[in-house]
Amino acid sequence: MGTIRGIGIQRQVLLFELERRCNFPECNARNFIGLTKNEAKEYRGFECSACERWNNDKLSKKDVPDWWDEIHSTQQSDSPSSDQTP
Ligand SMILES: [Zn+2]
Repeated sequence: MGTIRGIGIQRQVLLFELERRCNFPECNARNFIGLTKNEAKEYRGFECSACERWNNDKLSKKDVPDWWDEIHSTQQSDSPSSDQTP
């Protein structure tokens, strides 16, 4: 219970893998996208491995439940209500 993790920890490089379908209906290929945490912050899409077209995409919380708060706290560092609780 509570130890379901698809995240591989290799030294200091945290990597997780997304599974996405190509947005183009005639392709619809399955893509596996490996991202580090830094890459996840900048993630805007992927290039389909089958048709090589760009797919606009973004992460949702269920993609990166463990990193969601961290990724978004970094992006919105000047939010007025971002009090850091010790
Ligand atoms: Zn494709």
